[in-house]
Amino acid sequence: MEKKQKKQIAELEFQKLIKLANQANGMLLGSHIYLLVMFAVMHVDFMVWVNVVSILVYLVNFYLIRRNMNLFFGNTYVEILLHMTLAIVAVGWDSGFQIYAFALMLTIYYCDYIGKKIGTPSLHPRVVSIAVAVLYVLLYVESHYFSAFYTLKNPKSYQSFYIVNAIFVLVFIIIYVENFEALVLQTEERLTEAAEKDELTMLDNRRSMQERLNQLLNEKDKKGEIAVAILDIDDFKLVNDTYGHSVGDMILKEVALRMKEKESKAIRVCRWGGEEFLVLAVGDAAYQNLIVVICDLLEKIRGDKYYYGKKCIQITISAGVSQWENEEKIEHTISRADACLYEAKAGGKDQYIAKKVKDRG
Ligand code: GH3
Ligand code: MG
Ligand code: MG
Repeated sequence: MEKKQKKQIAELEFQKLIKLANQANGMLLGSHIYLLVMFAVMHVDFMVWVNVVSILVYLVNFYLIRRNMNLFFGNTYVEILLHMTLAIVAVGWDSGFQIYAFALMLTIYYCDYIGKKIGTPSLHPRVVSIAVAVLYVLLYVESHYFSAFYTLKNPKSYQSFYIVNAIFVLVFIIIYVENFEALVLQTEERLTEAAEKDELTMLDNRRSMQERLNQLLNEKDKKGEIAVAILDIDDFKLVNDTYGHSVGDMILKEVALRMKEKESKAIRVCRWGGEEFLVLAVGDAAYQNLIVVICDLLEKIRGDKYYYGKKCIQITISAGVSQWENEEKIEHTISRADACLYEAKAGGKDQYIAKKVKDRG
């Protein structure tokens, strides 16, 4: 992948993370305003003040998200941990505030993952989540040995708290797992693409073409006609030597674009190596179709002009085309196409030579 592309992806990911952090912060702020009202109505004054502090924390967090992501995560984590602990001490286990411990045990892995991406040392998620689990047990013991500071007048209030807390944590866990799944799938997709594509031209690379060829030959029943062409830019070393490697790269990309335009269900192109490309044709009349495609490409590339300052650069390519013969190894077909390419070069370049086995005499 090119540096610019990597930077763009990183920037895109960062923007997505910021959006997600803002949404989460908004949700947490909203829930603490709700809790503040609930505690105020139930006259649990201590928790009203705790929630005033929580609300301030989340307001400051909006400011921190873009400026210090680590501090934002830290603040949020500590706030939830403290709020959960104080709420259980204040109104007891039946209020269900301990359920937040499960969300906290999960979130630390996400925080650690993001931290690693932005270059912060490991948060030791296993240690933190075990510590949260220990706190959970301690709070259970505490709340069963000591009575809560406040007794809610209406016993139904405990149920209300429990249901609201359970729903909040459940929704959080669903969103969290969905996000993580999307992240894993996205990463997998990107890695597959990086493994299959050539970085410079974004054409399939040699490895993925070889896989495609093997797959094609393994599908015994579906084997129809197969033809391959090897193309090579003429005097490319001269282009590099005259205009520089970066101009050479630009031309390689342009040539690859012309080739990409030829791709279809029956035609696939790859960068075979250096300034060489392989075109694969499958299906009925693959050999004839491939010759037409190569002819077109040679003509198109011959006519194209590339500009370097005021200088106009024109290039040509040579090609060798051959057809796969029943039961032969594909390497043999490719070698024949290579030999044809050699002939095309020796015969003056800017041309193609196409031969089937029986043509070779
Ligand atoms: P011919 O017509 O016989 O093919 O001559 P040629 O100069 O094209 O062939 P040669 O094999 O002598 O040189 C190929 C050149 O291609 C040399 C190498 O530096 C250049 N090349 C290979 N890969 C790249 C690349 O990724 N970028 C650039 N800019 N040049 C490349
Ligand atoms: Mg060449
Ligand atoms: Mg070459």
